[in-house]
Amino acid sequence: MAAFAPQGEEKRLVEALQKAGLRLTPQRLAICRYLVNTDEHPTAQEIHRVLKEDFPSLSLATVYNTLETLVSLGAIHAVGDAGDDRVHYDADITPHINLVCIRCHRIIDVPHEALSHLEEEAAARSGYRILGARLVYYGLCPACQRLESEKEKHGSTSVAA
Ligand SMILES: [Zn+2]
Repeated sequence: MAAFAPQGEEKRLVEALQKAGLRLTPQRLAICRYLVNTDEHPTAQEIHRVLKEDFPSLSLATVYNTLETLVSLGAIHAVGDAGDDRVHYDADITPHINLVCIRCHRIIDVPHEALSHLEEEAAARSGYRILGARLVYYGLCPACQRLESEKEKHGSTSVAA
């Protein structure tokens, strides 16, 4: 096992796993590292597929359990499915909007200043201690919009959403 001391965001996730009483195996550390180093919003299956190259014995159940533990502690967010019936995970828990493309299932982040004000307002009005925010917009990404309009140009009967 490499003598690598996790830092920053990765450290945050590793400490969450420790708090949950999970053993810090090289596999679990690799999952944390993967989460903080990707701009994508991977599914458990995607993480499993990539990390299996380095950890052939890694099971999908381990990936899934590790992710769900992090979610239950509020260390990462589970972004509901992106139209593909899969849970996507997001290690960025600062206030931002997730834009989901319902056609290609890509998810991107849009940072949003105003969201922290929303959070404060929600807390003030409800008396809740807000632990995190999740805001998802659904739509068609620019690439998929182009594909849609090309389809229409070529005269195929388009299906109204
Ligand atoms: Zn798209």
